[in-house]
Amino acid sequence: PMVNAMEVVDPQDVDYDQIGGLDEQVQEIVESVELPLTKPEAFARIGISPPKGVLLYGEPGTGKTLLAKAVANRTEATFIRVVGSELIQKYIGDGAKLVREIFAMARKKAPSIIFIDELDAIASRRLNDTNGADREVQRTLMQLLAEMDGFDNRGEVRIIAATNRLDVLDPAILRPGRFDRIVYVPMPDANAREMILRIHTRNMKIAKDIDFKKLASLAEGVSGADLSAIAMEAGMLAVREDKQQVEMEHFLGSVKKVMSPIKYSVQVTT
Ligand code: ATP
Repeated sequence: PMVNAMEVVDPQDVDYDQIGGLDEQVQEIVESVELPLTKPEAFARIGISPPKGVLLYGEPGTGKTLLAKAVANRTEATFIRVVGSELIQKYIGDGAKLVREIFAMARKKAPSIIFIDELDAIASRRLNDTNGADREVQRTLMQLLAEMDGFDNRGEVRIIAATNRLDVLDPAILRPGRFDRIVYVPMPDANAREMILRIHTRNMKIAKDIDFKKLASLAEGVSGADLSAIAMEAGMLAVREDKQQVEMEHFLGSVKKVMSPIKYSVQVTT
């Protein structure tokens, strides 16, 4: 069962050019994760230690996992993905042990990148320390901090974590020598939405007159994950009509379809 909470993922062909609108974030990742693995001497020459861990934060579906996979692919590092909530739920009493095993495995398979998704599930500020489940989470976090403090930043293990709740994190996790690089991954603006739509339609047969600017402006407030769904859904509409290619009307239909639950949830919450 261990394989479920800690999986070695093949990042396949994810490359930086498949990430839309996050040039600054890519640059940060290159400098803090890629270069320490590929050109450690550049840091040694200047006399600084590269950061051990980078924390990506931002709303769901904005490309945090994509960034981590792309850098793993670029560096040919082993990519070990851990999901915070799964670590807690499935391994009651074993979270700390699993953290130890993850780091041991990363060292063995170095160069490697440990990607901890939903870091907030194991690194939230404690509200009360009295119940057992909370103590278990606390032990898991302590082990993570100990592992991070224990390893050498010049080594070939890098840690990337992701969260959409920076505000709930225990400040201990953000101290120097731990996740001391924090990179905000924003929701895409209109330009970024256009780029992401273009990326996700690259391998699709589409009409020449697709107005990506218009689609991007209509799709206000959606994430990269939603844009990927919009491209896919437009393709489905074309298939349904047995077309040779995807037309503008299909994209308009899919934007409407993918956006409607978003509008609905806004109405419900306000
Ligand atoms: P979560 O917080 O829910 O884990 P995440 O930020 O890690 O989300 P990803 O898993 O990276 O989001 O994104 C999900 C999918 O959405 C990606 O596989 C990709 O298809 C698409 N996507 C998201 N952001 C982008 C982007 N900036 N450029 C291109 N595609 C994107």
